[in-house]
Amino acid sequence: MKEVYADNNATTRVAPEVKEAMLPFFEDLYGNPSSMHHFGAQVEKHLIYAREQVASLLNADPEEIVFTSCGTESDNAAIHGTLASYPEKRHIVTTKVEHNAVLHYCRHLQKNGYKVTELAVDRLGRLNLDELQNSLSDDTAIVSIMYANNETGVVFPIEQIGQIVKDRGIVFHTDAVQAGGKIPLNLSTLPVDFLSLSGHKLHAPKGVGVLYIRKGTRFSPLLIGGHQEHGRRAGTENVPYIVGIGKACELAQSYMEEERIRIGNLRDRLEIELLKSIPKARVNGDQGNRLPNTLNISFESVEGESILLLLSKEGIGASSGSACTSGSLEPSHVLRAMGVPFNAIHGSVRFSLSRYNTEGDISYIIEKLPSIIGRLREMSPFWSALS
Ligand code: PLP
Repeated sequence: MKEVYADNNATTRVAPEVKEAMLPFFEDLYGNPSSMHHFGAQVEKHLIYAREQVASLLNADPEEIVFTSCGTESDNAAIHGTLASYPEKRHIVTTKVEHNAVLHYCRHLQKNGYKVTELAVDRLGRLNLDELQNSLSDDTAIVSIMYANNETGVVFPIEQIGQIVKDRGIVFHTDAVQAGGKIPLNLSTLPVDFLSLSGHKLHAPKGVGVLYIRKGTRFSPLLIGGHQEHGRRAGTENVPYIVGIGKACELAQSYMEEERIRIGNLRDRLEIELLKSIPKARVNGDQGNRLPNTLNISFESVEGESILLLLSKEGIGASSGSACTSGSLEPSHVLRAMGVPFNAIHGSVRFSLSRYNTEGDISYIIEKLPSIIGRLREMSPFWSALS
């Protein structure tokens, strides 16, 4: 049976070049990069190089790169690190459509006495920048707004948002876990203080992340212990994985231009064909402002989970929302915030592509999905009532 992996916003395959680059660090290059002897020194060189590779993707200074264990840690560390540096400020601004790594952390802080504003989005998943402007006060410690949404792919105007926040002298963090490696991020011009990345979303392994901290930004570490990462994140560095994310960033940088177009064309073909061949289907999210790899599409009167199961039987992997929340039938908080009708939320599927997807993959999904939806609708009481 053909296998098609179209769930790359959940996680990506480790690139063979990344695996290759990592292997020596499980064998000969096992020293601790902090050690004085040559076992450590020869490993430290690679840590320095990985930092340069990540910095290059972001057009940042290597000193501004801190390696972490995942995107979640980077998000938590940015928010925690700011609140601890400005103990007098008690207000946080974020959005209703953040990944839980930000949203649930902010809600946890709210329970502990912080004031949290969650900005709304419109039907297309867009923010109202006046609402952002009006939410800011002298008490606001940090604004945390994602670069691109993991469920819909909608890209927020981070340059404009950052400008509004920085004009008020407030710290700005952006969760760029989904944007990293997919679209250009230029930190020499982007007005952000903190930015998060995650290895496993860009063809490095799970369990490694990056927190960009702009030079001069006040920061208090989440993990306290040794002096690693210039005192910004204690714990012996996970060298093989750091080497992996460095290589993955280098590859992303070199492939980005051509892959952005190729993957965008694949996604567009999938979208056009599915809309053509399946009645009562709608795309969720601002089609003019999305990551090139993401298609979130709803099919009325069918359960997303049933679609996923039948797709999986045909060898196709997709998702019915954020991977971290699938497995429960809780409707997506992102689609709910966008006001997508209940019936359409439940029938939503996310296809997310990567550099490893081909035209053949898209043809296969287009061949299989219409009959799956047809079969499910035949069994659906909602569909018979509609038709
Ligand atoms: N932020 C976004 C937008 C994500 O999509 C994810 C993962 O799905 C995360 C943060 C969390 O990253 P990690 O799985 O590396 O903790």
